[in-house]
Amino acid sequence: MAQRTSRRAFLGAGSVGVAAAALGLLAGCGTGTDRQVSGSPPARGRRVVVVGAGLAGLVAAQRMAAGGMDVTVLEARERVGGRTWTLRDGFGEEEVDPADAQHADAGGEFVDADHVRLQSLVGEMGLALDPVGDRGEDLVVRRGVALSSARFAAEHDMDAAAMAVAHTVLPMLRDIDPADAPASEHAARYDATSVGEFLTGLDISEPARWMVARTLIDEFTVPLEDLSLLAFLQVAALNWELDDDEREGWRIRGGSQQICERLARGLDRVETGAALRRVEQRGDVVVAHTEQAAYTADHLVLATPLPPLRTVSFDEPPPDRVRQAIAELGYGVGGKTMLRYPHRFWRDADWSGSAVTDLGIGSLYEAHDAQPGTGGILSTYTAGEAGVAAAAIDAADRMAAAGADIAELAALAGIDRSPAPSGARSVMWQTEAASGGTYTAYRPGQVTALWRALRQPFGRVHLAGEHTDTYTGYMEGAVRSGERVAERILGG
Ligand SMILES: Cc1cc2nc3c(=O)[nH]c(=O)nc-3n(C[C@H](O)[C@H](O)[C@H](O)COP(=O)(O)OP(=O)(O)OC[C@H]3O[C@@H](n4cnc5c(N)ncnc54)[C@H](O)[C@@H]3O)c2cc1C
Repeated sequence: MAQRTSRRAFLGAGSVGVAAAALGLLAGCGTGTDRQVSGSPPARGRRVVVVGAGLAGLVAAQRMAAGGMDVTVLEARERVGGRTWTLRDGFGEEEVDPADAQHADAGGEFVDADHVRLQSLVGEMGLALDPVGDRGEDLVVRRGVALSSARFAAEHDMDAAAMAVAHTVLPMLRDIDPADAPASEHAARYDATSVGEFLTGLDISEPARWMVARTLIDEFTVPLEDLSLLAFLQVAALNWELDDDEREGWRIRGGSQQICERLARGLDRVETGAALRRVEQRGDVVVAHTEQAAYTADHLVLATPLPPLRTVSFDEPPPDRVRQAIAELGYGVGGKTMLRYPHRFWRDADWSGSAVTDLGIGSLYEAHDAQPGTGGILSTYTAGEAGVAAAAIDAADRMAAAGADIAELAALAGIDRSPAPSGARSVMWQTEAASGGTYTAYRPGQVTALWRALRQPFGRVHLAGEHTDTYTGYMEGAVRSGERVAERILGG
């Protein structure tokens, strides 16, 4: 996030940081009732079960249903959307004037210029994009001092630091094949190095190093020692050519989750509260078992993140590398605490509401700044070590602590009237069992070991999700992966 732009605003910024039947009746099909996946017998090879009603699963389901396949979607949660989750419930306030009802995205939020499949889907679903606002100064708060980001950049010569980083990183990007990262030149060497080690070796000032690190932690949501340099370079190689305007990005008007809600409405069978427990591959069919039922199909799309698959039993074990990925693939830690204020006090002070800080909240920005209403929502982006610390306390304490941090920040910035928040919500994604983290963040050594295995079907099982795509960690990656799996199965 950071700098009120898309999550991935790093290289090229003006300065660094600133810069998932009859055959189902076969014996041993588990705990529940057996169900065919269609009312009338579908053509052989045309039945698909998709596990996971996030963007990847629902896009795959919609494309396959449109292609004449018989599709059933199973979703563990009682809602669709997965890591797109738009909170619209008043933020704990008991009575909210409907005219002042507001929303914030707890997960995927920003749409970048190069997220073309996502943008196309937004149009297809009849939704609109709002540009991310540019209202007032951004702040940097460090060691008890609040500065505008422009002043921080000037005082710490961030342009020189950005040049130094670019000078080191840009030549490395020539080695990188973003579509097949393990094929990159020096892949093994880059993958064996952590971004933390790499940063230590850069000849930049200590404040500049702090800012670069803060920006990268917001971007990848892990402590930088846990992030493969090759993973960082792969992402940088995708988008380093975007100019500053393109980095400003958009949000989906009304919230990102609407895409999944609209996709689900267009499908015949989306079952919520239906968590996959067991996968049985039997001859030329695959059977997906939930607690309640068994679903027999010709193809199974696993469009869940990998951590929830640790509790799924596979009668026929997936390939070794896939098992390793399920057990070990790095995922980000942290999330957002969203505080609603009765009025947008930050605007009175010509502050955008955005800040990069060394406080417990991490970073901060105004959620859906284009939405109407007197009130407004400030959303923290609390990731990496701060994300671990935030998840260790209960949500009520976390929300209170975030409010206190924002009050402190406002006081440091000389903003004398910061009201108490009137409501708050907080989501830390590593504590969400059906997610297991924010999004993929390959650990050192994992790109070369696991990248390709995530892109291969095994038997009748196909993986989909952001973790299987070039646009790792983005909504764009989820959409692309769903489209790709649908195309493969339809073409099969
Ligand atoms: C805090 C945060 C900020 C982000 N910011 C951005 C951003 O600004 N821009 C951007 O492009 N992306 C962003 N992302 C990433 C983006 O949200 C994800 O990449 C994308 O939504 C992932 O979609 P998916 O379909 O791969 O997975 P998911 O959305 O996780 O969908 C998987 C589904 O599978 C379900 N499931 C899990 N286990 C089971 C089971 N056993 N049985 C049945 N169902 C199961 C889950 O409940 C879920 O609904 C952010 C993510 C987070 C967490």
